[in-house]
Amino acid sequence: MRPVSATIDLSALRHNLAVAQRCAPRSKAFAVIKANAYGHGLLRAARALSEADGFAVVELEGAVRLREAGYAERVLLLEGFFEPRELATLVQYKLSTVVHSPEQLDMLDALPAGSDLDVLLKINTGMNRLGLQPSHAGDALARLEGHPGVGQITVMTHFANADAPEGLGEQLAIFDAAAGRKYPRSLANSAAVLRYPESHADWIRPGIMLYGCSPFPGGVAADVGLEPAMTLASEIIAVRELAPGDAVGYGSLFVAERLTRVGVVACGYADGYPRHAPTGTPVLVGATLTRTLGRVSMDMLCVDLTAVPDARVGTRVVLWGEGNPVERVAESAGTVGYELLCALAPRVRVIEKS
Ligand SMILES: *Cc1c(COP(=O)(O)O)cnc(C)c1O
Repeated sequence: MRPVSATIDLSALRHNLAVAQRCAPRSKAFAVIKANAYGHGLLRAARALSEADGFAVVELEGAVRLREAGYAERVLLLEGFFEPRELATLVQYKLSTVVHSPEQLDMLDALPAGSDLDVLLKINTGMNRLGLQPSHAGDALARLEGHPGVGQITVMTHFANADAPEGLGEQLAIFDAAAGRKYPRSLANSAAVLRYPESHADWIRPGIMLYGCSPFPGGVAADVGLEPAMTLASEIIAVRELAPGDAVGYGSLFVAERLTRVGVVACGYADGYPRHAPTGTPVLVGATLTRTLGRVSMDMLCVDLTAVPDARVGTRVVLWGEGNPVERVAESAGTVGYELLCALAPRVRVIEKS
């Protein structure tokens, strides 16, 4: 069997949710499990995160799967619906929906009276992606209030820079001015959960932190008490020695300056490892943190074994996860942990660890 696998640590997921809940003890929590739970598996993550008060996804099929698996908690669609005919599914499965645009508000005209649809009205406070302009919030809320098919109403927004030095900036003040305090509020992503208690409000929306990845640039999970939930591991499947001047991999990007022991690892970009990771990206071989060499190919990548004399075919390699933070690998590849976790490929065998 090809040795690449992703171990998903269910107790780490539970632990990380408990961290979020301890940060925001008076708030309820939507566990954000969009994008196949950031690569961890939708239903697997939902099972581990069953202490959450609700779940948030962007995929309607995912929301329906949660209901069909028996989850009765609030299930929120973060982008809402895209066409009026989806409303019947929302009502049938008692799904909660974001309403972020005038077009969606108009589509709600098709919603029958008595539908009791749970709506989270999203207000744009500076992210300028989704959300009604603050000046339109009052009218929209009045319209929702007057709609005989709408049930509970919550107001929400999303922060652009909660992970950065800019922080919440004016967004919280703009939100408060537009949304008032009449309705329950939902604002905080992981970074805001960890850093800005004033943003916790009624429902937090932690995502990345649940998976044991720091939302902060330069940070790692352990800094904020989180445990990595995914470990992508494989093995060395060949060992060779490069003489000075020998190159390795496509494009001959790495050329040995001295005698270099190289391990070939069964993991490549078709497994979800980033092709853009350059020579020097951290990789754990046995118990030693070393570096990748040359270009990542579809099924394989190469690692420097010069400082790992006992490594041989069969030695375990951690591409990211326990002992090799995904944040550091992402940094080296010019991206963020989010992207690496989400990109875990379907062909990678998943091992659950409880
Ligand atoms: C994805 C998402 C979140 C979770 O963000 P993290 O940074 O992963 O915590 C929260 N709210 C909305 C609207 C989202 O789309």
